[in-house]
Amino acid sequence: SRSFRRGRERVRALVGVDLHVAAGEFVAVIGPSGCGKSTLLRLVGGLLAPDEGTVRVGGLSAEAARRAKRFGLVPQSPALLPWRTAEANINLLREVNRRHDRGLAPVEAKGLVDLVGLRGFERARPAELSGGMQQRVALARAFALGAPILLMDEPFAALDEMTREDMRFLLARTWAGTSDQPFGQRTVLFVTHSIEEAVILADRVVVLSPRPGHVVADEAITLARPRAHFLEDSRAFLDHVRRVRAALRAGQPGAGAAGP
Ligand code: ADP
Ligand code: MG
Repeated sequence: SRSFRRGRERVRALVGVDLHVAAGEFVAVIGPSGCGKSTLLRLVGGLLAPDEGTVRVGGLSAEAARRAKRFGLVPQSPALLPWRTAEANINLLREVNRRHDRGLAPVEAKGLVDLVGLRGFERARPAELSGGMQQRVALARAFALGAPILLMDEPFAALDEMTREDMRFLLARTWAGTSDQPFGQRTVLFVTHSIEEAVILADRVVVLSPRPGHVVADEAITLARPRAHFLEDSRAFLDHVRRVRAALRAGQPGAGAAGP
């Protein structure tokens, strides 16, 4: 649980969240605006401490895991350095974290450029790239860091719908294409408010209630991998989407009342 002070009031952001994520799992977290999704990521990432309860990350406290550089963060806006080329931005975190370099070969950064579809744009500066391309640089940067856990906070929310849909599959490919790391497949905690995005990407979709957020549903996604566009027309996909939507609606105020 975690609350915040706002003036004289206490805002309860999360209450009694109980969540276990296995190593290598891709877990999407979905919930209404303001339900505490970003707070949850910050708790897991050791940027914030819970008021009640504990966060353990591979046997460490969240804070210790953060100090041990276990986390890569992908924020909503790409936050690139404008004077650096795409490639130099991708390598930025590795340069400043050299001491913590997990022994990834330099070729991996090159491979990442291909995986995220930036071949030919290595020398371009952020201002010369579209929003989608900038976010691809941010993704590659997070993967290049070599951290076993990636925390993604609505990384595609600012993109237009078409770009967004492409980015889903690009992320899925990058995640699968970088599974040959010393620590194996990355563990991903991916916050989104798109049901379709959550279902097509994740092994599990965790649904949070409105504030104060707690887990109201945990949907195991049974779609085969690799995931592709055609799956979005499948019966299984639509069933998952329907169940996640129902869980989201059930948590809304007024749920249960007659409505459309
Ligand atoms: P979400 O990411 O799901 O939209 P947040 O985790 O950002 O939700 O916020 C949950 C609630 O906690 C909101 O009411 C927000 O205003 C409040 N909150 C988050 N961080 C702070 C903070 N640092 N100080 C005060 N209130 C905060
Ligand atoms: Mg948020």
